Amino acid sequence: LAALGFRLPKAELQRAFEDGEVEYLEGQWMPIIRGGAEDWSGTDSDQTTGRPRGQLNPQLAAQFAQHVRAFTAFGPPGAGKGTLLDAFIEQLNAHLPPEQRYVKLETGAYFRAIAGIVKKQRAGGALSPSDEPYLSLVNLIPLADLEIMQQGGLMSDATAFAIVNAILEQPAYRQAGGIILDGFPRTVPQLQALQDGSIHFNGHTLALGLTLILDVPDEVLLERVAQRWDAAGAEARADDAPEVARKRLAAYHAETEPMIAVLRGRPDVIELDGHVEGLSPEESIVEVRERFLQTLQTFLDQPVDELSSTLEARAWQQPLAAVFGWLPLAGVPLEG
Ligand code: AMP
Repeated sequence: LAALGFRLPKAELQRAFEDGEVEYLEGQWMPIIRGGAEDWSGTDSDQTTGRPRGQLNPQLAAQFAQHVRAFTAFGPPGAGKGTLLDAFIEQLNAHLPPEQRYVKLETGAYFRAIAGIVKKQRAGGALSPSDEPYLSLVNLIPLADLEIMQQGGLMSDATAFAIVNAILEQPAYRQAGGIILDGFPRTVPQLQALQDGSIHFNGHTLALGLTLILDVPDEVLLERVAQRWDAAGAEARADDAPEVARKRLAAYHAETEPMIAVLRGRPDVIELDGHVEGLSPEESIVEVRERFLQTLQTFLDQPVDELSSTLEARAWQQPLAAVFGWLPLAGVPLEG
């Protein structure tokens, strides 16, 4: 693809850097991925937690950094996972010294950016500075996979592995203190690859770590995505279009839920109801954040021995073979 030899004028990149769209690390341009940037501070201090509702405090951030190296979140499209994680990582990093800070690996954001570049190229349009960090990744994704994505399906596991490995090689990831996984793994074979230790982060084998499952009923999800689609106008995500959103939800049920079924109920898995009746969307966001922080606090308040054995046991590694022994996982050796 033409993008591979393409470099943007320095002045344009400098402007994008000053505007906080990209950053330069060890000779590479890196994307700065931001999500819903709305303020997440709750207003009232809660009497039992002593902190504003929905807001992380330094103690909880320090406990998290001490015990949780990797954190993974699962939820169907529209569950509010992106909004929750963006705010969480921002607050978390604000309380941590640079060497302990977390990066978020959001596979969908990379795939969307790459799809946007390919679309512009096909239309003969100009690239923008915020495209630069993704240019070296463009040819890792077969066009067929980009089409599958456009229709709301999941890309192949091979493509997901290629992109995840390439992202984890980037300087911001190699320098990070911890990682938050958003959108990977998403299928049983992807979980399996983590289990097999074939994905590395910062010189270590990447594991799921502490895991969050966010549940929201289908009707609510479709309604939320439809609202997001209407509200965003020309800026809308192409895959939020109603018929595509339905297919993304179907892909979640068919391919991600069987993987979640393996994890559900494990001691290092937090499951939360991401739907609140009778509150405005803003209030409901704060309420879900508060539920998440309280559950996280309870988890991290366990005696240190229990906590570390919970996080180190990786209990899910063993039964996967038993539960999915019937699946055609040829070529993927099962341990245990
Ligand atoms: P998301 O924003 O997480 O919904 O991701 C957008 C799209 O990217 C999905 O609909 C998939 O086509 C693709 N995608 C993201 N992560 C993965 C993954 N781990 N495996 C396969 N496809 C993925």
